[in-house]
Amino acid sequence: MGQYVFYFGDGHAEGNAKMKNILGGKGAGLAEMTNIGIPVPPGFTISTEVCTYFYAHEKSYPPELKRDVEHNLARVEKSVGRKFGDATRPLLVSVRSGARASMPGMMDTILNLGLNDQSVRALAKSANDRFAYDSYRRFIQMYSDVVLGIEREKFEHELFAMRDRAGVKTDAEIPARDLCALVETYKSIVRKEIGKDFPQDVNDQLWGAIGAVFGSWNNQRAITYRRLNRIPDDWGTAVNVQSMVFGNMGDDSATGVAFTRNPATGERRFFGEYLPNAQGEDVVAGIRTPLPISKAQAAGGEKSLEETMPGVYAQLEDVYKKLENHYRDMQDIEFTIESGKLYLLQTRTGKRTGFAAVKIACDMVDEGLIKPRDAVERVEANQIIQLLAPVFDGQEKQKALKGDRLLGRGLPAGPGAAAGRVAFNADHAVAMAKDGPVILVRVETSPEDIAGMHSAAGILTTRGGLTSHAAVVARGMGRPCIVGAGSLRVDYSRGELRAEGHEPLEEGDWLSIDGTSGEVIAGQLKTRPSEVIQVLLEGTMKPEDSEVFRNFDRLLKWADEIRTLGVRTNADTPKDARVARLFGAEGIGLCRTEHMFFAEERILRVREMILARDEEGRRKSLSELLPFQRGDFEGIFRELAGTPVTIRLLDPPLHEFLPQTEGQISTVARDMGWGVAELRAKVNQLHEMNPMLGHRGCRLGITYPEIYEMQVRAIFEAACDVKKQGIAVHPEVMIPLVGTLRELQITTETARRVAQQVIKERGVEVPVVVGTMIEIPRAALIADKLAEVAEFFSFGTNDLTQMTFGYSRDDAGSFLPAYVEKKILPKDPFESIDQEGVGQLVRLGTERGRSTNKNLKVGVCGEHGGDPDSIRFFRTCNLDYVSCSPYRVPVARLAAAQAELEFQEYEG
Ligand code: ADP
Ligand code: MG
Ligand code: MG
Repeated sequence: MGQYVFYFGDGHAEGNAKMKNILGGKGAGLAEMTNIGIPVPPGFTISTEVCTYFYAHEKSYPPELKRDVEHNLARVEKSVGRKFGDATRPLLVSVRSGARASMPGMMDTILNLGLNDQSVRALAKSANDRFAYDSYRRFIQMYSDVVLGIEREKFEHELFAMRDRAGVKTDAEIPARDLCALVETYKSIVRKEIGKDFPQDVNDQLWGAIGAVFGSWNNQRAITYRRLNRIPDDWGTAVNVQSMVFGNMGDDSATGVAFTRNPATGERRFFGEYLPNAQGEDVVAGIRTPLPISKAQAAGGEKSLEETMPGVYAQLEDVYKKLENHYRDMQDIEFTIESGKLYLLQTRTGKRTGFAAVKIACDMVDEGLIKPRDAVERVEANQIIQLLAPVFDGQEKQKALKGDRLLGRGLPAGPGAAAGRVAFNADHAVAMAKDGPVILVRVETSPEDIAGMHSAAGILTTRGGLTSHAAVVARGMGRPCIVGAGSLRVDYSRGELRAEGHEPLEEGDWLSIDGTSGEVIAGQLKTRPSEVIQVLLEGTMKPEDSEVFRNFDRLLKWADEIRTLGVRTNADTPKDARVARLFGAEGIGLCRTEHMFFAEERILRVREMILARDEEGRRKSLSELLPFQRGDFEGIFRELAGTPVTIRLLDPPLHEFLPQTEGQISTVARDMGWGVAELRAKVNQLHEMNPMLGHRGCRLGITYPEIYEMQVRAIFEAACDVKKQGIAVHPEVMIPLVGTLRELQITTETARRVAQQVIKERGVEVPVVVGTMIEIPRAALIADKLAEVAEFFSFGTNDLTQMTFGYSRDDAGSFLPAYVEKKILPKDPFESIDQEGVGQLVRLGTERGRSTNKNLKVGVCGEHGGDPDSIRFFRTCNLDYVSCSPYRVPVARLAAAQAELEFQEYEG
């Protein structure tokens, strides 16, 4: 083991910013600030390795730690000219937690350690009574809470009582005499609670605090926070022991926090709050209302720091500029002013919204602080989705929440805000949408609801997780969506949405959902489309009027210059194709043809086709479907002029198209001129036990070749017709669910034969490209053979995940969350690719495929194509492109560039 304790002070530190892993973020920041000449009270950091040791050795320390701590404490004593536990010039310290990743407020910190009945008198003599006893009562309260496990409330109760007795409003006004009495009360609380006196030995205090801070790594709050933020449990926290400076020494003292730029909007303005005559925890605890630091920020005539302490404020400005220039990023800082002198106690890269992230990155490029590639690197790819989502008016939302209009919460599945009238089924949604926005409210959704989902402004389900049908489709469509709002009840028979303690909502009532935060709110909150959408899709705003759009656009163009991975889209309609193209998609990676079958005038013919008594009947219905498909393809080819369009032939089990309820069966029977009993029998006959593993994909194309023939004909007729109009077309026919070479050979032969026939009939040359999806593990294993027939592969990672794990995607919601919680799986494998298993099939399939066909183009078209972590992985597999839903195209462009930078760095 190396060094366990790292000193910082007097302009020099043993650590630096790069040592976050062992010093924690706070320790690394303190060291770095010390090194660049920013005033920081001296102290030392006990490394995270000691935390690891602590948990590996029944909560004990490495033997040399005691000596190291004593040695460094002596250096601190020398630096500030005080002695720990001294009766006349006592050194006081804070003992602060600080992990590698910031976990705000999750772990513990203790201030004013080193005070006891003796040193408090020395402190009073050197400064003043009020300050000394204020510090002591704070220390007893914090130490008792964190180390001795006595509830805060017990002390706070006495503090408030004291405030009332003294007839004052704030703690800062309580007179010294009363604080002195309060200390005695506090000590008696401790005696009563633990049967012992409050520890007077400062070394006991110190080691008690160090143990408690290491212990706080495993408090319930911290554990939960780590799980939610995917922070590994074995990182551990560091402990910082630092000499105290006092913001509670009088009116020329203060404490505060600030951001070097606005973390919500990114605006380039110093932004923060402070409290005069107070200590750090007061600001965070919200006990007193803090004041604005700058004049510009002081709206209601409050006294800003700039006004009350102009000298210190100017110093603070110098410091923040120095920090920003040094870190070349927005910082979140904590400072304390002791008798007019400024000290920095923390700096870290500030958390920010997607809006702020993009603006700060672009501004910093303009300011010459960073290069475009840095800007691309530091905006979290998923965050830019926020720039596309409609938003609620902030004030209105607060008003609604305060006014008891919150009905419940669910999982935020599709970011953005939507308000509309409640519709309980898809047909109603479509009809009602003609008169204004609709929120489709369902227990869960299924493929027949697509049209209703499309016409809805927002979608709410009471069941399902983040990969449920509703969530996936809503994200794809860019619809605000909340799923799994389990406290709400949808009662279809009564037509009611019920929430405990509220009047039930009926169809047509107004409802608002915030898909960014998951709140379901009664009534209508105003929304507006994002500026990016207004400029790019609606054309209702000019680029020069929207800084948000310009920055979005610039950032993505920088990303395009860096990335080598192509980005295509999954789109089934000309409209989606257009959206994706405007978002920068370079073609379609997956055009599902079955969605085209659900439209009103078509579904009947599809049903006729499926139910036909013989091939002749099927061919007749198919020939009626052909013009519809051709029309769709024409529209898509036009939208995507010049770029490749991968079209998947029919894939889902046929029963998905069949009438299910008795009502539907009798309607369809009437429309088709069949008897109800006869139709019901046919439907039952087509029923499958396990449709996902049943008669679907190329198995349909082999048993009913006329279906694939019709589809290929529609594709190439459309392609020839569009080409005739002078528009370049690049159709790519994709065979789904291939597991054997023969399947691919038979279906490919059919496709090529029909395509050539059409080309001959139309007299127009169009390239014929046929490839396959790789979504059955067997296909990945025999990829070398398949690649001799296929011209491209597209990994269908949804099915591939489903089949590799043997998890039914639609049913996995009942156990996957528990699996993630118990750490059986690191994350939901339908959201982010399982690199270890499924990913191995992608890598191996690609390598084997290219071993026999070096020109093989390889892409991915599952949900994973829009997930940044998965994209990073796909880059390492040397794929040619990823394909994702239209609204995720910007995310994928950015993530692909980040993947490239990481890959280059890794490869050296
Ligand atoms: P957290 O991680 O919860 O922010 P910190 O360790 O940063 O906890 O401590 C909270 C606050 O306590 C700091 O922002 C600062 O105001 C105050 N504080 C910590 N150490 C000192 C110190 N040595 N002198 C004065 N104030 C301190
Ligand atoms: Mg802090
Ligand atoms: Mg599939």
